[in-house]
This record gives sequence, structure tokens and C-alpha cells, in this order.
Amino acid sequence: MTVQPIPAVELAGVGKIFSAGAVTALADIGLTVAAGEFVSLIGPSGCGKSTLLRIIADLEQPSAGTVVVHGKTARQARLDQDYGIAFQQAGLLDWRTVQENVELPLQLHGVAKRERRARSAELLEITGLTDFARRFPAELSGGMQQRVAIARALARKPPLLLMDEPFGALDEMTRERMQGELLRIAEETGAAVVFVTHSIPEAVFLSDRVVVMSPRPGRVTAVLDTGGWDRAAEEDVRSTDAFFSAVAAVRAALHEGPGTVAKTTAGQDLR
Ligand code: ADP
Ligand code: MG
Repeated sequence: MTVQPIPAVELAGVGKIFSAGAVTALADIGLTVAAGEFVSLIGPSGCGKSTLLRIIADLEQPSAGTVVVHGKTARQARLDQDYGIAFQQAGLLDWRTVQENVELPLQLHGVAKRERRARSAELLEITGLTDFARRFPAELSGGMQQRVAIARALARKPPLLLMDEPFGALDEMTRERMQGELLRIAEETGAAVVFVTHSIPEAVFLSDRVVVMSPRPGRVTAVLDTGGWDRAAEEDVRSTDAFFSAVAAVRAALHEGPGTVAKTTAGQDLR
């Protein structure tokens, strides 16, 4: 008998109503993210992507449905720090150095100083920040601050990363480099990623699957298989025909709205 790894996230029938019934942000969201899988959420502004991520992170309570994170309740997963978070703003502590920012989750978890140092050194190496360990956030570019936030999110080797438009503020070149780095890091650590983005090419480049959501109330209208790129040849992937057709398929699913049948680039039915 093979042992199935625990899924990173399992959502069933998740709904969210804000303001005493005035705003239905999410309706009947069902989604399972496998261990180590990279899934992007894409959809129009206000469709509930951030809300869904915050529900997974236990920063918001669902009005309906069940949320299981790494086999536990969302609350238990938060207490156990089973996931790392990186949002659009790096959210670093200005008065702490780069290294101290990266070590924060370890410190909060009572990890001894020597071990913290070893881990932060490793993470700063992975994210290319070794030379900036003693700098303060204000001394870094936006892209570097974002890398610090990602290093911090990875500090406890979480099986899951929750990222809400983490590269939104970056210029296109930095953004593409960060995408490559994120993939490498996720692969190295085996982490699953739930990634919110506005950018179709970004979603297609990064993801094993792209989840397309409808305007409010946010529902899942299509799930497209977009994985399988030769990541070793990452620079070239974006200019291949397969990449362009995957981008076109996601764009079509976004514009067609609910009730349409999503096809993969291979043309196979996904719903
Ligand atoms: P997205 O990230 O897809 O742009 P959000 O999840 O931020 O969308 O928001 C989804 C909807 O829920 C929006 O209509 C937003 O105004 C509403 N919303 C989000 N957070 C709150 C809140 N704390 N109180 C009331 N309404 C909220
Ligand atoms: Mg948002």
C-alpha cells in the first residue's frame, strides 16, 4: 500500500458573507491542493481571492464549508505554523535587520539562537541576500524586500506557502527573476504554494494548475492544467507555442465566465 502524502489544503463548500449579509464574497468553493503542488488563483478584482487565502490562513472565518490545512483545522495549522505567508507588501519590521526579519518566525517559535542563525544563513543564501544580512529593510530595493519576506515565509520549512500578489509591486524583469527563484525554492523545499495573481502569464508560468474565479460572489469557474514546463529551460518557456496557448486558454476561461468548459492545451476536458 502506498502512503498518500497529506494534501496541503482541502476546501469544501466554502462560503464567506461579510457585513451581516450585505456582501457575499465567496460561494461554494471546493478545491484540493496536493502536497508540493503549485496552484494559482486568478479572477477579477474583488472576486474574493484574498479572502480565500485569508480563510486558509485562519485570518478570516468562513461563513460556510470546511477548511483543512495539512490535515488539520485551519486554526491548528496556524498555531503549528504549517504555512508561510507573503503578501503584496513585504511587511518587514523596519527596525530589524534582514537577518533578524528572517529569523522572526523561528524566534517566535522558541528556536535557539545558534539554530536560528544557521537557518537564516541558509535562507539568505537561497534568496541571494547573504551580503545584505545586516542591512535594514529601508536600505533594500522593493524586489530585495520581497525576497526577505519570502525567506521569512520559508523559515520554518512550511509544507505550504500562501502568497497574495507577492510580486505585484516589482518591475517586469525583477518579477520574472523572482518567479524563477520561487519555483526553485518551492522545488527544493517541496512546499505546496497557493498563489494569487492578476497576471495570466505569471499564473501559467508558475502553476501546476490555475484556478479561475468568477466576479463576486467568487466561485471556481474553471481549473486548468498548466504544469509540465521544462523548468531547466525556464527562460525559453515563455516564448514557446505551448506557453502561448496555455495563456490563451486561461484568458478564455476568465472571459467566458461561469458554466463554460475549460480545456487544457491538450484539449482534454477538465470539468
Ligand atoms: P480580491 O482579493 O479578489 O480582489 P477580496 O477578497 O479582497 O477580493 O474581496 C472580496 C469582496 O469582499 C470584495 O467585495 C470586498 O469589498 C469584500 N471584503 C473583503 N474584506 C472585507 C471585510 N473585512 N469586510 C467587508 N467586506 C470585505
Ligand atoms: Mg486581493
